[in-house]
Amino acid sequence: MEDWRYINSQRDIEEFVKETMGMHDTVMVGLDYMAGTWGDDMATYFSGPNSKNLRVIFTSPWTNGNIEMIFETVCRFNVSGWQECYSDEILECSISLEKLKKNSDEIYVIWTSGGTPRACGKEELLLEPIDTYIISKRVRWRITKLNYKCPCCGYYTFGHPPMGELDNCPVCCWFDDTECLGDLDYVNACLGISLRQARKNFLVKRACKDEFMSEVRLPLENELDGINWIIPSKKW
Ligand SMILES: [Zn+2]
Repeated sequence: MEDWRYINSQRDIEEFVKETMGMHDTVMVGLDYMAGTWGDDMATYFSGPNSKNLRVIFTSPWTNGNIEMIFETVCRFNVSGWQECYSDEILECSISLEKLKKNSDEIYVIWTSGGTPRACGKEELLLEPIDTYIISKRVRWRITKLNYKCPCCGYYTFGHPPMGELDNCPVCCWFDDTECLGDLDYVNACLGISLRQARKNFLVKRACKDEFMSEVRLPLENELDGINWIIPSKKW
């Protein structure tokens, strides 16, 4: 796994654009918002110094792994793709370092999928809902091989979205079956049990089924975090 690199200068931007091919034809596959706030029992709320971070994961045809970006202290963002008729695909990106407030020298990083010339880094040129953009105080990024979440044990053990690639999870021995993702009570043809039952078994026996208890192992460090991917079930 690569070390994190920060985007603090024009040179950092050029390095990022070069290594990711300007994020041409990448796809956003994960987005985690961390508010960094907490509340007490008096309904008083606090926010920490590093609050409001966004972690975004992209698959890319140009990099040997995922592009993982963490936008620290986000002050404005819009994500396109969840709306009907809009896509998660990033055709290209542009990044710039800008002063956004007249009375402050504070520099913000503007990352946008808008490309050129529509979004050339000027905040007022960003369009919603068509542009995915994130404005934050700092951005760090790395190329990393992230696994996908196992629908049974919840650890990140699959090197691909677990939908019918005929793989077993090494932590719980769940056998990848697309039909089970859409229906928790659908019986996995290979295992003879449903995903609902497999999850219950894992909580008690650390395996999706009794007969696999001697075959499972504890999750590795790189299986504790990854891409949260699952098809929502109609019968959750
Ligand atoms: Zn598993």
